[in-house]
Amino acid sequence: MNSPQELLQRDAPELMRTLALDATAARLEIRILLGQVLSVDRTWLIAHERDSLQAEPIARYEELLGRRLAGEPIAYVLGEKEFYGRTFNVTPDVLIPRPETELLVDLALSQCRVMESPKILDLGTGSGCIAITLVLECPAAQVTAVEESDSALEIARRNAAKNGVHVEFVQSRWFSALGDRQFDIIVANPPYIAPGDPHLLEGDVRHEPAGALVSEDMGLADIREIVVQAKSHLRSKGLHLLEHGYNQAEAVRDLLIKVGFSEPVTRRDLAGIDRVTGAKMSE
Ligand code: GLN
Repeated sequence: MNSPQELLQRDAPELMRTLALDATAARLEIRILLGQVLSVDRTWLIAHERDSLQAEPIARYEELLGRRLAGEPIAYVLGEKEFYGRTFNVTPDVLIPRPETELLVDLALSQCRVMESPKILDLGTGSGCIAITLVLECPAAQVTAVEESDSALEIARRNAAKNGVHVEFVQSRWFSALGDRQFDIIVANPPYIAPGDPHLLEGDVRHEPAGALVSEDMGLADIREIVVQAKSHLRSKGLHLLEHGYNQAEAVRDLLIKVGFSEPVTRRDLAGIDRVTGAKMSE
């Protein structure tokens, strides 16, 4: 029992049973875990499927597999997650970057690229994936990222260093430590799931920080707090972009209009779900 092929045969059924994965997903996860302990890619593993592996990497693989079988998200088991084509460190102190959040980045970038040296603010940066991607994709931007949690801020700083970019990190609950500073673009992926939502009891979210996921008032309390304050931190014609839940687009648009933003627009993610709403400050 020591070639990748034998490990696939031995462990895939247990992964399928325990985590309700199909065979393809189970085999992929095993290859991902083996790839990590052997520092090789999945193409290498397929080409070397019958090679014998050493005891030490197998023991390390079994440790990671055990954590995965206990339900830990694969991103935390690996300590990393891909976002916008790059790898970010993640721990249970930060939300695992989601593919749908790439929409928020895309919308910020289309605005960013037509501005000379835009000042961008990312609220509740978590792993830093949004802020860091924005600097990498739009090097002319000056990006500030705020985060309330010490431990998340440390991960975000580490991710910025790993990617060789400068982001100004500020410890702050939303705008509280920012004085009267103003920006051209303010983005946020705040917590927006309602307390008690059954989705919180399923899969990866059970292991993620509740503070990054859950918000009072049917998931809208933090969005409301942010939108109300964003107004005084945006320059004229500045853009505010918010990620939100599948059924919150109308509430977010109403809120934006109520505080004085004009013509809010909601965009769907790749799954066809209303996911990001944006609006500009009136003149
Ligand atoms: N989109 C995430 C989920 O539904 C939630 C992320 C968030 O609350 N910002 O799992």
